[in-house]
Amino acid sequence: MASGELQFIQQLRNRAGRPKGAVRLGIGDDCAVLRPPSGHDVLVTTDFSLEGRHFRRDWHPAASAGHRCLARGLSDLAAMGAQPMAAFLSLALPTGFTRRAANRTWLDGFLGGLLHLAKQTKTPLAGGDTSTAPGDAILADIVLLGSVPEGTELRRSKARPGDGLYVTGHLGGASAELAALAKSPRSLRKASPADDHPHLYPQPQLRVGQRLRSLASAAIDISDGLSTDLTHLCEESRVGAIVEADSLPLHQLLTNKKDALQHALHGGEDYQLLFTASATSKVPRSIGGIPITHIGQIVRGKDITLRSNGKTERLEPAGWEHSL
Ligand code: ADP
Ligand code: MG
Repeated sequence: MASGELQFIQQLRNRAGRPKGAVRLGIGDDCAVLRPPSGHDVLVTTDFSLEGRHFRRDWHPAASAGHRCLARGLSDLAAMGAQPMAAFLSLALPTGFTRRAANRTWLDGFLGGLLHLAKQTKTPLAGGDTSTAPGDAILADIVLLGSVPEGTELRRSKARPGDGLYVTGHLGGASAELAALAKSPRSLRKASPADDHPHLYPQPQLRVGQRLRSLASAAIDISDGLSTDLTHLCEESRVGAIVEADSLPLHQLLTNKKDALQHALHGGEDYQLLFTASATSKVPRSIGGIPITHIGQIVRGKDITLRSNGKTERLEPAGWEHSL
């Protein structure tokens, strides 16, 4: 991207600020240099945010696209109980993108949204790559590194029959807000990240995740929908589960009772944590102001059952899946 690229990286470097925490050397050299806290393991996760697939420029405010890009990876770190160390952003922009003022404004908003969440969560942007994209779509890939005290990460595979099943926060809000956005794309242009916007500005549950290291037996973040993510957890742990429909903490955006359960069970991108804890583990009703709700039980076998009003039915994974 010739001088455009150099100028862009210089701006990014200024906005990202000085290296902090585990980052000894950030943007500007061939590599970043990180030093994890001593006695810690390093966790790594990567997530694509592709225009048309994960965000739309005509639906999402630029700041929301940037926020969501980072939030997805932070939620993966939260699910394993990790503390963020550094983020790396690889960005491909259509040829000549920054020649148009409107596009420069968009890019500015995107980075603003991403860096705002980065600051809030103490996740320094320590590097990345910038290139032109082969087509007309913006492509962003985030790599996140986090750390946990040696051997203490939460996994999907450690749930045991008899464990309780819990979720953080509320469910279904993100898919309800996405439906509202699809209906009326301009209605949420002025949404603020300081308010509760579960689709536009999901809040990764990092503090809860770190606390769960000493409480939970297994955990996963709800990115594809409760039904699908619970299936992943059960498959990895080789167990089944019973979910109590009436216990699910419905998000306040779910005003239509008929759709509420569907959104809560199958709507993705809530970025809440789903976790299990043994019967002897004292799970509090809230952690750092985030409500924790008991929604069911881990059982032997591999069936996942939904119980409501005394009736039971099989809960099939009906959340998000990419068809490749
Ligand atoms: P190289 O060609 O050696 O890979 P670059 O010119 O691509 O170096 O990058 C220069 C510096 O800017 C590096 O430290 C790199 O990590 C950083 N950088 C480039 N693009 C981005 C980006 N999109 N986000 C954050 N840092 C970036
Ligand atoms: Mg490079």
